[in-house]
Parts: sequence; structure tokens; C-alpha cells
Amino acid sequence: MVQKYYESDADPRVLEGKTIAVVGYGSQGRGQALNLRDSGHRVVIGLRPGGSWQKASEDGFDVYPVAEAVKLADIIQILLPDEHQGAVYRTEILPNLVSNNCLMFSHGFNIHYGQIVPPPDIDVIMVAPKGPGHMVRRTYEEGKGVPALIAIHQNYTGKAKAIALAYAQGIGATRAVVLETTFAEETETDLFGEQAVLCGGVTSLIKAGFETLVNAGYDPEMAYLEVLHELKLIVDLIYEGGFTTMRDSISNTAKYGDLTRGPRVIGPEVYMAMEEVLEEIQNGEFAREWMLENLVNRPVFNALTRADEEHLIEQVGAEVRDLMPQFKKK
Ligand code: NDP
Ligand code: MG
Ligand code: MG
Repeated sequence: MVQKYYESDADPRVLEGKTIAVVGYGSQGRGQALNLRDSGHRVVIGLRPGGSWQKASEDGFDVYPVAEAVKLADIIQILLPDEHQGAVYRTEILPNLVSNNCLMFSHGFNIHYGQIVPPPDIDVIMVAPKGPGHMVRRTYEEGKGVPALIAIHQNYTGKAKAIALAYAQGIGATRAVVLETTFAEETETDLFGEQAVLCGGVTSLIKAGFETLVNAGYDPEMAYLEVLHELKLIVDLIYEGGFTTMRDSISNTAKYGDLTRGPRVIGPEVYMAMEEVLEEIQNGEFAREWMLENLVNRPVFNALTRADEEHLIEQVGAEVRDLMPQFKKK
């Protein structure tokens, strides 16, 4: 079992007198920075001029160009998009790091695949909330927290874990639970989860079900309600109490179909495809492809995004949601 940490395992005093630079003020940057400030820590924001700069200023933070924020800080949390971290690190962060600094991430991609190679005389850690930034903020405001992973890549000062735990406490994560992992495990499981199940797997499964029904002549609105709208209700039950709770509340007919047909839909060829996807994550093939894709301005990313935005399920979905009161904009 992995090592778990809770509120009483963290000592906020290791952050006393320290300045934390949160670099980037998007989903994670905003959530983490606001929580750290409310927990009593000193936070500055590092950015380029633009929309996020404006937002962070409106939220009352002192905002600086990235290089300036790094100079002011002891702890530098990089919350830029993964594909831009390497370039910003080389030009603005690395030249301003000093011995005993702590460099932080919320995802291990750049360290694990060698896009960022930090100097040896600093700490390098990860605190990765297992939820989107607005949930990191909302749960904190409710007196709760989103679970997080911590990992230590370099422990130059000997205080790397204490800093990681205090930071995790500052963003509210120890109120839930903090699990210890490695940069390799976090990176590879995170990429696999989002590719094979959470994002890639789910959208492809929904599309396959929708297209099968529509191609067989069924009404697209019916197909949408059946394979997409209802999915949330089912997932909520699984989230609450696992497969058993979900199966307790569906009909016996649904349960028999689930148990006998599910494994036929997700059959051996899906397992083989998942193994291939995992291998490309482990051997660096996916990382290389994604970095190169960014170097040429993302032709594949853009084309595939556009194609899915124009898919019938998106048009039908927008129309159906328009008719349902729970989706009416407040
Ligand atoms: P976002 O895309 O939401 O935010 C990125 C921020 O970086 C924006 O404030 C953007 O500002 C700024 N930025 C982009 N390029 C530059 C640049 N060249 N110089 C300075 N600032 C720049 O990122 P996320 O919060 O989604 O992701 C941040 C990290 O957190 C990633 O490592 C990600 O893997 C990790 N993570 C994200 C989760 C999530 O739910 N989103 C969950 C767990 C981890 P501007 O307005 O100027 O573009
Ligand atoms: Mg991810
Ligand atoms: Mg039904």
C-alpha cells in the first residue's frame, strides 16, 4: 500500500518566512495560489502580460514577469501548460534559481521525460492535486480538500518531503488525503488514465455507441440521451459506492446485460490496444510525439479537435441540453 499522509503529518512552519512563486495562473495556478494565501503563506505570481496577469491582479496578488517572481521566491511552483514549461524554464527560471531553492510541479511530465533537468543543488518535488483547479478552490472554501499526490525527485536540503507536505496542507489536500508516489509513477499513470479511460476511452466509447445507434436508424436525440446524458447518473453511483452500488440501483435486466455484454464490447482487442498505449507512454514515444506536434504548431491536434467539434453528437447535444432546465445558464 502507498504511504498516506493527513493533516497532522504536515507542519506549516517549514514555509514560515518563505516566498512561494506560483508561475502560471490558469486552472491549477489560481486554485493553488488562493488557497496558499488563505492558509497564511506568502505568494507571488509569475506570468507574461495578458489575461491571467489581469485576473491575478484583480484577485489581489503581486504579479511579476516569471524571471522576477523566481528571483523573489524560495519555492517555485510551475503551473504552466506542460508543453510550454521547458522553454519558460530555460529562458526565465533556470538563470534565476539559487542553491537551496525548491522547484515544484503538479505533473511529472517535464522531469520524467527530461524536458527540464534541474541543477543538483535544489529540491525538486511534486504536489499534484487529483482534481481540476476550480475544485481545488471550491472544496477548500467548503473546509474540505481535493486529494493530492506528492513525490520527491531531488532532496538537496533534506526538507523536501516536509515542504511537499506543508504545501499540500496549504492547498487543502491533507484535509482529504495525500499519497506518496514517484515522478515516473504519477506521470505514466496520469497519462494512461486520461488516454485510455477518463478522456480518450470515455469519449470514444460514447461516440461508438452513438454512431452505432444512429447508423442503425435510431433518432440522434434518443441516442444522445441514452449513451451520453445517462452516463453521468451511472458514474455518480459508481463514484459513490463502486460497481455494486450502481448495480443495486439498475434493473436486473440492465445488470444481466451489463455483466454479459460489457466484456464483449471491451474485449481482448481493447486490452491489447491499452497495453500498446501504455507502452508508448513508458518508452517515451507519446512524449516525443506530443513535443514534436507542438514544435510544428499542432496540425494533428487542431484537425482532430475540429473534427470532433463538428461531430453530430456535439450538435445534437447542444440542442438537447438547450431544452433541459438544469442546463439553463444562471
Ligand atoms: P492552464 O492552461 O489552465 O494555465 C496555464 C497558465 O500558464 C495561464 O495562466 C497562462 O497565462 C500561463 N502561461 C502560458 N504560457 C506562458 C508563458 N509562456 N509565460 C508565462 N505564463 C504562461 O494550465 P493548468 O492549470 O491546466 O496546468 C498547469 C499544470 O498543472 C500542468 O502541469 C498540468 O499538467 C497540471 N495539472 C492540471 C490539472 C487540471 O485540472 N487542469 C490537474 C492536475 C495537474 P496566459 O493567460 O498568459 O496564457
Ligand atoms: Mg494529466
Ligand atoms: Mg436505459
